[in-house]
Amino acid sequence: MRMYINGNWTTGTSQMEIRNPYTGEAFDSVPASTVEDVDLAIKSAERGALAMRALSSFDRYEILTRAVALLNERKQDLGETITREEGKVLSEGLLEVDRCIQTMTWSAEEAKRLFGETIPLDAAPGNEMKFGFTVRVPVGVVAAVTPFNFPLNLVAHKVGPAIAAGNSVVIKPASDTPLSALKLTEILLDAGLPAEAIQCITGSGSTIGDAVVSHPLIRKVTFTGSQEIGEHITRTAGLKKVTMELGSNSPLIVMADADIEKVALATVQNGYANAGQACISTQRVYVDKAIYADYLDALSSKVSALTSGDPMAATVKVGPMVRESDAIRVESWINEAVSSGARLVAGGGRDGAVLSPSVLADVHPDMKVSREELFGPAVAVTPIDGITEAIKYANDTRFGLSAAVFTENIDHAMRFALEVHSGNININGGTQFRADHMPYGGLKDSGTGKEGPRYAVEEMTELKMVIIHRS
Ligand code: NDP
Repeated sequence: MRMYINGNWTTGTSQMEIRNPYTGEAFDSVPASTVEDVDLAIKSAERGALAMRALSSFDRYEILTRAVALLNERKQDLGETITREEGKVLSEGLLEVDRCIQTMTWSAEEAKRLFGETIPLDAAPGNEMKFGFTVRVPVGVVAAVTPFNFPLNLVAHKVGPAIAAGNSVVIKPASDTPLSALKLTEILLDAGLPAEAIQCITGSGSTIGDAVVSHPLIRKVTFTGSQEIGEHITRTAGLKKVTMELGSNSPLIVMADADIEKVALATVQNGYANAGQACISTQRVYVDKAIYADYLDALSSKVSALTSGDPMAATVKVGPMVRESDAIRVESWINEAVSSGARLVAGGGRDGAVLSPSVLADVHPDMKVSREELFGPAVAVTPIDGITEAIKYANDTRFGLSAAVFTENIDHAMRFALEVHSGNININGGTQFRADHMPYGGLKDSGTGKEGPRYAVEEMTELKMVIIHRS
C-alpha cells in the first residue's frame, strides 16, 4: 500500500516489505519514509489542524459516525488484514474490528462533550467584579505512534479522540503492521475528514521516530509500545504533552477459596489470546499453596488442548508470534527458567514463529519469565501463602497496568483493590479485560496518562481560563 502524507497517497523513494508472520512470505509493501517526508507530513498536518478548527463539534461527530458505518461495511477485509499482518487468529482479528467500531463510536459521541465550567472568581477576596470560565481547545497536531499487537484498535484509540477533540493527527504505525492503520486512514478520508487532517507515515521508528516526536509543530505525542522506546520518546519529545501506554507483566492471584475451573479457564483466556502479545496479558500467576497442585492440573490440561498454527484456520486458537525472533526469545526465557529450577508442565516446543502455549510451574519471582515483560504464549506460576504475600508479590514489579484476584472473600478483594499498584484491578475476572470507553493506563513503568475516548480527549485538549474583568 502507499502511505498518506501531504494530502496524497504516495509511494516514497524506497519500500519495506510486509510479511505474514505465519508463512514468512512478503505479501505487501509500504514506503520506508525519510525525515524529509516527516517534515512534509507534519507541515501538512499543521494546515489540517486549521481545517479541523473550522469544523463544528457536530461536523466532527458526523465524520466519525460515517467512519463507523464504513468500518462496519469493511469489517471482513479489516479482520483479514489484521490477521495477515499481525498473526492473531481470524476470530480475534474480527473482534478487534468490533472493538475499533466501539472506540470510534465513543469518539464520535465525545466530539459533542468538550465542556468547560464556570469558575466562581468572586470566591477570592476583592474579585467581586471578575467572571471566569474555562474553554477546552484542541492542542493542534497530535503525533500517534502505535505498536504492532492491535494494529487497528490501538490506532483508533488515538485517532478517534484526536479528531473528536478537533485536532489533526499524524500516525506512525508499527513497521510490522502498517496496513490496518492505512486502511483506517482511507476510511476517515472516505468519511469526509479534511484531506490534510490525517497523515499516515510509514517507516522505521529508528529512522523517522525522533523526527516525528521532536518536531516543533507537534503539540502532543501519544505513544503505545514498549517501556524502553516510551522512555526514549519522553526524553526526545521535549516540552509537549505526552501519553505513554507501555508494557507490563500482569499478575493474577488465585486465593484458596477460588473456583479452580473458573480460574484455569480465565488464565487460558487472558494468558494466550494473541499468542500472549497483549500489554495486559496474564503473565505471573500466584496461587495459594492449598490449591496449587489442583490449579496446575486444571491449567495444564486446558493449555495442552489449545491448538496452535495457521491463524486463518478456524480450529486454531493460538497463532504465531509477530516475528520468529520473538518466538526464539520467549523460548530461550522458558529454557532459562527451566534450567534455574522451574518445571515446564505444558508446551515448550517451537515451529518457526509458532510457540506452543506453555505453562511454567515453581517459578521464582526473580526469573526473567516473571520479572520482565514476556509478551508470549506462556504463564509463570508461583505458590504463595495468603493474601498479604499475594499483594507483596503482585507489587514486586516495576510495572503496573493490570492485576487480577480470584477470591470469595470481600475483605481480601478490597485489600487487593486498595493496595495493589496497578491501573486496572480485576476482581474475579482476568487481567485482559478492557471495555474501550473505560479509563485505561498504567502506573509506574507502565506509563502515564489515560486512554478511553473521554479521557484521551482530555489529554488531547488544552484548558484555557477566560477572565472577564467587569467594571
Ligand atoms: P515498540 O516499542 O517496539 O514500538 C512501538 C512503536 O514505536 C512502533 O511504531 C515503532 O516503530 C515505534 N518506534 C520505535 N523506535 C522509535 C523511536 N525512536 N521514536 C519513535 N517511535 C519509535 O513496541 P511493539 O510494537 O513491539 O509493541 C509491543 C509493546 O507495546 C509491548 O511492550 C506492549 O506491552 C506495549 N503495549 C502497551 C499497551 C498499553 O496500552 N499499555 C497496549 C499494547 C501494547 P517500528 O515498528 O518501526 O520500530
